[in-house]
Amino acid sequence: MTEEGAGALPVEGVPAERVLAEIRALRAADRPTHGGRLFAYVYDPGVAGLDELARAAYAESAHVNGLDPTAFPSLLAMENALVGAAARLLGGGPGTSAPDVVGSVTGGGTESLILAVKAARDARPDLAEPRLVVPASGHAAFAKAAHYLRVALDTVPVDPVTLRPAVADVAAAIRPETVLVACSAPAYAHGVVDPVAEIAAVAAAAGVRCHVDACFGGWTLPWLRRLGEPVPAFDFAVDGVTSISVDLHKYAYAPKGVSVLLHRDAALRAPQYFGYADWPGYTMVNPVIASTRSGGPIAAAYATLRHLGEAGYLRLAALTRAAVSGLADAVRVVDGLRLLAEPESTVVCFTSDDPGLDLFVLVDELTARGWHTQPQLAYAGLPASVHLTVTAAVAPRVVEFGPALADAATAARAAGPVALPPELRALVGSLAPEALTPELVAGLAAGMGLAPAGAAAGGPGTAERGGGAAPDRMAAIHTLLDAAPAGLRERLLLEFVGLLQRPTW
Ligand SMILES: *Cc1c(COP(=O)(O)O)cnc(C)c1O
Repeated sequence: MTEEGAGALPVEGVPAERVLAEIRALRAADRPTHGGRLFAYVYDPGVAGLDELARAAYAESAHVNGLDPTAFPSLLAMENALVGAAARLLGGGPGTSAPDVVGSVTGGGTESLILAVKAARDARPDLAEPRLVVPASGHAAFAKAAHYLRVALDTVPVDPVTLRPAVADVAAAIRPETVLVACSAPAYAHGVVDPVAEIAAVAAAAGVRCHVDACFGGWTLPWLRRLGEPVPAFDFAVDGVTSISVDLHKYAYAPKGVSVLLHRDAALRAPQYFGYADWPGYTMVNPVIASTRSGGPIAAAYATLRHLGEAGYLRLAALTRAAVSGLADAVRVVDGLRLLAEPESTVVCFTSDDPGLDLFVLVDELTARGWHTQPQLAYAGLPASVHLTVTAAVAPRVVEFGPALADAATAARAAGPVALPPELRALVGSLAPEALTPELVAGLAAGMGLAPAGAAAGGPGTAERGGGAAPDRMAAIHTLLDAAPAGLRERLLLEFVGLLQRPTW
């Protein structure tokens, strides 16, 4: 890497300025986190000075440990303030129908969902085989929670047109062993809000907890409602909603590592905790999965909320709303493209109705023009689609997106759809996931230009590509994955990521 020696642990230490320059050089290969041209992974308000503020706040608390709230009261104070702000925004707190709301700051949406499932499971120690009901549009983190916690997952299909589950199907899925019914506001993939009030009602009628996954929308829907949008009730104002998750590292525009899990009251939260005194060390009491955790993300989120305030978030929501409608208009005027759902939050999701206009090729053409979108594979009767997570920073870019999309569509038509070799398509259509060996995946990956063959053995090619970078053109890979059933998609990508994640020496 440098003359001081390669890798993270050189023989002699490298001067601070040089280390920072090296990190900046590595960062140059990343997708742009600012500029409003990346429609997934990052949430950019485009507010001058906010990065600097969050960074400084992060640094103040980076070494503070959230393990023990009595040792570091600064973190306890900031966490309680974040939970209070989230609760108030989501229909709880003094003067509401949910005055006793409590919560926890977690490290992310997935952790919030795992803990919501854990609390529901551990509230029912009488059940040998607890179960979880989730619409098919629910976030994959619910499946992860079910897997980690050994809770059976009952998935309710969504209507291919409305992209929502039928409430009767949710009700029918609830069994005596069901500990939690979940729904989304909105679901990530298509940005559609589930019928929360109806789902909460059937859960309550069965005496089962109901979690609203507002990881994505919890910090936008309330502002959109204040702006006059017809946002249905989805929060603690709805009877029967027992817990809600909202990610601050999404639309609260805080740096990564902060989500809030709220419960309607402390009794509902109690089984979320883990306490342990049966060892010779300190008595461990953890509300979340991590034990030692940095105060950095908490302080950065606190600073972000304090600095933007309600007025700031309202203004950013107005910008985001304008961007969503501009992007949706840009999609509508391209022949062959169709919005999968009318935008009702901050997602624009579209598909192609024209076999001559291949979505995966279109995604590559957009990438080549500097627009980074997120392709979604066909699933359970839903077509492949392109997902755009829209943030406030997109607003000034909308005028450029329309022409870029039209141009990319023209180029994608000219290039034509990806033609997978028929034998390859037959292979992925018939291959059992268990039959996939690391060697087979390495060969496939190398054959498709995904990683140098040497990477399979952790060879020298890996380091040169920064641990194995994705190629510019992904359409063939997406087409291959699209032709594979879900189990094979998982195995292929697990093996592939395993190839990327090899030590550099
Ligand atoms: C992002 C998201 C999650 C998972 O959150 P992470 O912070 O990525 O762990 C869960 N649910 C929804 C609806 C989301 O958008």
